[in-house]
Amino acid sequence: MADGRCMFCAIADGELPSTVVYEDDEVLAFRDIAPRAPVHVLVVPRRHLASVMDVADGEGPLLARIFAAIGEVARREGVADSGFRVVSNAGRNGGQTVAHLHFHVLGGRFMTWPPG
Ligand code: AMP
Repeated sequence: MADGRCMFCAIADGELPSTVVYEDDEVLAFRDIAPRAPVHVLVVPRRHLASVMDVADGEGPLLARIFAAIGEVARREGVADSGFRVVSNAGRNGGQTVAHLHFHVLGGRFMTWPPG
């Protein structure tokens, strides 16, 4: 963001609007502003971690919460049975554009493989 504030921290703190699909004290899930599939939700930790490269040994419990949230998002969005894809882009070649760890949950259509 222009003022240097992390955009997803601002969303997690309620300073920027988002369409929330799921939330708890550690994790927030909200709709992607530019959806690439009928279901496109971003699942983020409220605490700032820049990418998967910031995930240290002690983050096991947080990752478990994130993946439990991903499953709950899939159920709420109606793609638990049809299937979905979970993606976390990291760094330049990974195509990461927001430097706050996030997991894309994509579904509602067949996901081609490999991704571009
Ligand atoms: P990535 O490119 O993997 O870092 O993913 C960042 C995602 O954040 C992109 O899919 C964007 O469309 C999405 N995005 C950017 N700004 C917002 C916002 N304010 N609310 C929701 N999604 C956003």
